[in-house]
Amino acid sequence: MENGTNAQMSDQLLEQLAANLDSDALRKGRAVVLGLDGVPYSMLRDLISCGVMPQMARLVEAGTLQRMESTLPCVSSVAWTSFRTGVNPGQHGITGFTDRRPGTYKTHFPTTKSILPSTFDEYADFTGLKVVMTGMPVNYPPVNLKNGISVGCFLSPSIEKAVCAPELLDELKQMDYRLDVNTSLAADPSLFLADIFYVTERYREAMFRFWDQQSWDLMMIHFMSTDRLHHFMWDQYEDPAGPYRQDFLNLYRRLDEIIGEVAARLGKDTLLMMLSDHGFCSVKREVNLNVWLQHEGLLRFQTSTPKSLEEIDGRSQAYSLIPGRFYINLKGREPRGSVEPGAEYEAVRNDLMVRLLALRDPDNGEPVIQRVEKRETLYGEGCSSVAPDLVALARYGYDLKDQISGRALFKPGMLKGMHTYDDAFLFVNRRVTIPEGIKIYEASHIVGEHCRCRGPRH
Ligand SMILES: [Zn+2]
Repeated sequence: MENGTNAQMSDQLLEQLAANLDSDALRKGRAVVLGLDGVPYSMLRDLISCGVMPQMARLVEAGTLQRMESTLPCVSSVAWTSFRTGVNPGQHGITGFTDRRPGTYKTHFPTTKSILPSTFDEYADFTGLKVVMTGMPVNYPPVNLKNGISVGCFLSPSIEKAVCAPELLDELKQMDYRLDVNTSLAADPSLFLADIFYVTERYREAMFRFWDQQSWDLMMIHFMSTDRLHHFMWDQYEDPAGPYRQDFLNLYRRLDEIIGEVAARLGKDTLLMMLSDHGFCSVKREVNLNVWLQHEGLLRFQTSTPKSLEEIDGRSQAYSLIPGRFYINLKGREPRGSVEPGAEYEAVRNDLMVRLLALRDPDNGEPVIQRVEKRETLYGEGCSSVAPDLVALARYGYDLKDQISGRALFKPGMLKGMHTYDDAFLFVNRRVTIPEGIKIYEASHIVGEHCRCRGPRH
């Protein structure tokens, strides 16, 4: 499976870590986790080597920076939940930014209630540790930590709904804390950049205020502004002559200063972990997989201008949700299922895999899809009922979409940057051997071991 068996892999990881950690690194101690959404390992190495991030360079010299794999699909809600639960998406129950409601063709935004196992932060709180957590997806509605502070994530509809305690709300309002960047400003790069910097400062202010105010054991702070910058302005990083390239790099100069401040505040035994949930690359084209399924004769709608998946025709064999998730229109599971469970289901899935791998970009004849996996291969047997039957991973540059309107299979990208699976990063301020190909769900084991708060699955 994507992750081997979780227990096996984590034992291996811990053995390797134990063999490499210095003598007191595994003792109980405080830990700081900085989540930098969508920051690629390769970009971090680049910004370190070209002098944009001198503080990070200093930390990397004394610690360990490794490339990390995200989840499939590589979406923030999915990957951060894997980090926090220590298990793969099929086991924690969130498999996309939206997920289907079993027994219907409807979708919804998964929330804290969709997470099946306990999260690492909840477990730490349960065992008496003081946790400060801001912005970590998926934290809406916010988990109610008995001993600590929990500020919800970007999925919260308002700041009022992102907290449990009224005193905390007052404090966040005083700081003008923001849950996310205002992406509706993206059409005006100057305003958008100003908002990105403003929101980043709000994250910083909340982190250091709680840092000073609370006697915390575990601090988990998530920065969303990096992901927002990349989606709308990734071209500025890649183009040496980009008019906003310096602004792009300035965000990293500022983050580097903040990282330096964090490092300067760390006690001797405090573990600092920094990580991202996925990497980024530029978008070449959007690929509309529901249009593709219609071209292949595998998806039909009851009307010629369908508004939602609820108008699927009963003769359909499959449908798709972003990014690259496929569901067989299965009898007994879907309301108008057409495919019999068992041999027919397998045949349809196998056929779909072959067709997906044969999908080419008409401009250059290159394959669009890098990998397609069956749910049980990725997630193991007995995974969540919302898990897709197949997950396709596109090659860099092909942004997989799921619109049901329109006829164009390939379109120019609406955004400049898209997520990548294999280029997230993991940093710890210890000299350790982190195995290459480590998966994001394994990263929390390192924090858990340090804080001595490993749950049954962490
Ligand atoms: Zn993103």
